[in-house]
This record gives sequence, structure tokens and C-alpha cells, in this order.
Amino acid sequence: MPTPVYDTTAPVLVTGGTGYVAGWLIRRLLEEGFTVHATVRNPDDPAKVGHLTQMADALPGSLTLFKADLLEAGAFAPAMAGCRVVFHTASPFTLNIEDPQRDLVDPAVKGTRNVLETVNATPSVERVVLTSSCAAIYGDNIDVAGTTGGILTEDDWNTTSSIGHQAYSYSKVMAERAAWEMADAQSTWRLVVVNPSLVLGPGLAPTQTSESFNLLEQIAGGAFKSGVPHYEIGVVDVRTVAEAHMRAAFLPEAEGRHITSAKTMSFLDVADVIRRSHPDRPLPVRTLPKWLLWLLGPMVDKAVTRRFVARSVGHPWRADNSKSKQALGLEYHPVDTAIEEMVQQMVDTGRLKPA
Ligand code: NAP
Repeated sequence: MPTPVYDTTAPVLVTGGTGYVAGWLIRRLLEEGFTVHATVRNPDDPAKVGHLTQMADALPGSLTLFKADLLEAGAFAPAMAGCRVVFHTASPFTLNIEDPQRDLVDPAVKGTRNVLETVNATPSVERVVLTSSCAAIYGDNIDVAGTTGGILTEDDWNTTSSIGHQAYSYSKVMAERAAWEMADAQSTWRLVVVNPSLVLGPGLAPTQTSESFNLLEQIAGGAFKSGVPHYEIGVVDVRTVAEAHMRAAFLPEAEGRHITSAKTMSFLDVADVIRRSHPDRPLPVRTLPKWLLWLLGPMVDKAVTRRFVARSVGHPWRADNSKSKQALGLEYHPVDTAIEEMVQQMVDTGRLKPA
């Protein structure tokens, strides 16, 4: 099994330190004794950064917060100075947007270029770990059937998303392509990419913006109680994703992309897991016919377009995670437990009303 080398003599940078995934990554880095530089948009907001400073107080490593916005040229330079590894996690993960170019694609793509331009100007950086997504590998579920062997691998790229269709996925594939283009144009640092599927499990911050929480809130909160689309998706525990980043950064031989996905679940499978620990919640018990979704979906939710229903509902999703296990030595936490913990946290914090 490959063994990571934790050399803590130089600091490491995590962009988007307030994020759901970044919180668990920063925790792992602090546990290993790293000096962590984390960029956030507002370091003076205790509601966004309090959990990070508390973790740093309790763990062996140390943490310094820096202010940086993805769209501000040069903003990452002070935080990156002297760092050996850069984890670029910052990128909006929300479906609740007004303008897909402004709200998703620009921060993802221009932000990635901005961070990597500073990497090019910072000689201490040897490795960049990019938080990409399975969304950079496929666009709609129907794409899976068109791959070699009917299963997604690291050789596949999302070619079907656009600014007008699956804009979040488009933002991720364009950002990852920009990153590879810049990595291939130089030879001083190495790019290693983590491609998680839907990340689940409890958060470390008191409030969460990640779409992961919105989706679980919808399923456990009754939004689908009269039925869910038969929609399959890859799922992975947030702690597994944090560990994948650690291994991508600190295994000397790590290279390329890594599908980081524990298994496939349908929305009804997720509801069935929640039902075991929360039987009183208003959970769906059936899937809705595809024709009904096609007809009514766009009127109920602007994200449920007819093109989405036609190309994703009822089409199986499969991905090959063997590279993450072999090359990174990744062991997958059980996702069912992650779902139960996440729902319990949302009940405990009041985000989900009592059933
Ligand atoms: P999240 O909690 O919403 O984190 C997003 C982070 O990006 C936040 O720290 C946010 O900062 C930052 N950000 C957004 N716009 C920014 C800007 N203009 N300038 C600086 N920072 C900005 O979401 P997450 O789920 O942890 O996502 C983190 C990464 O994982 C993203 O790259 C996402 O695409 C990827 N990913 C997530 C999943 C998933 O299921 N959650 C799956 C695959 C990949 P603020 O707190 O200031 O808004």
C-alpha cells in the first residue's frame, strides 16, 4: 500500500477554507502537524471561520487565515508565499444561481487560472491538488452508456454540459481543463486532481452553503414525499474526500485524475437509508414516472429541465474507483453512516424541522 510522506517543514495553502470539503481537509492537515495557510473571503466573520480557529487550537498544526477572492488578480500571493503544496478547493457549488457565467463559470475558471498564475510565480510550490469533480468526467447520466465498457474512468471527459445545460458541471470541466493546460505548459510543479462524486457526511462549520446539504435537506425534509425521480448518482463520504486530497498531495508518485466515489445510489436508496434511523421523516417511498417528470418538472423546479429529465432520469450511473484505491491506497468510509450522521446533524442544528 502506498505510504504518504508528511513533510511539515513548509506551509501548505488551502483555498476556500470555509468550505465543507476544505474544513475536513484542514482538520487532517492540522492533525498531521502542518502549518496551514487558508484563504477565505471574510476572515473577520466568526460564523464562517470560528470552527477553523477552534480546530487549530486543539490540534498539533497551526493555521493562518488570509483574505482572497477568486476573481481578484494576485489575491492569493501573500497566502501562497513559501508554500510547498497548494490545495485549490474554492469554487461555488450551488444550483441556486441567477447568472451561470457570473455565479459559477467565472469563479471556477478565472479563479483557477488566477490561483495557478500565482503558483507559476511562487517558486516554493511543488504540487497543486485541484478539487475537481465527477462532473468534469460526465455531463448527463446517459453519457455513461457511451463510455468504453459503460463505466466512467479517468479517461472520460464531460463533453455534453454547456452554459445553458448543467452549468455547474460545465464550470467544473472548464476549470479542470484550464488547470491541465497551465500544468502542461510548465515543469516546476505537478498537478494532481481529485474528482469526487456527491460528497455526503456531517459538516464542521455551523452553517453550510454546499449543495450537498441542500439535496439531503430536500430528501429528508419532505420535498419529494410524493415521489422522487429515478435518478442515480455517485456518493462518497466527506472524510474519504479529505483523505484523497492528503494522498494526492503527499504520495510522491501520485499523478493525474482520481475518481473518488464509493458507490452508486438512487435518490430512493438515499431515502431508504434515512428511513432506517429517522422513520418518522416525510420521505419518499416511490419513484415518479419519467413522463410525469418530463411534463411537470420544469414547472416545479427550474433545474429540472426536459433535457435533464430525458438525458439523466432512469439512466444508470457507474464509475470505476479502482485508481483511487490502487494509486492512492484510499479506503472508503461507509456512505450510509455518513448520510445518517448528516441528517442527524441537520436535525440537531435545526436545519431540518423535527418530524
Ligand atoms: P462549499 O462548502 O460551498 O465551498 C465552496 C467554497 O468556495 C467556499 O469556501 C466559498 O467561500 C468558496 N468560494 C466560492 N466563490 C468564491 C470566490 N469568488 N472567491 C473565493 N472563494 C469562493 O462547497 P463544497 O461542497 O465544499 O465544495 C468545495 C469544492 O469541492 C468545490 O470545488 C466543488 O466543486 C467540489 N466538489 C464538491 C462536491 C460535493 O458534493 N460537495 C462534489 C464534487 C466536487 P465562501 O464561504 O466565502 O462562500
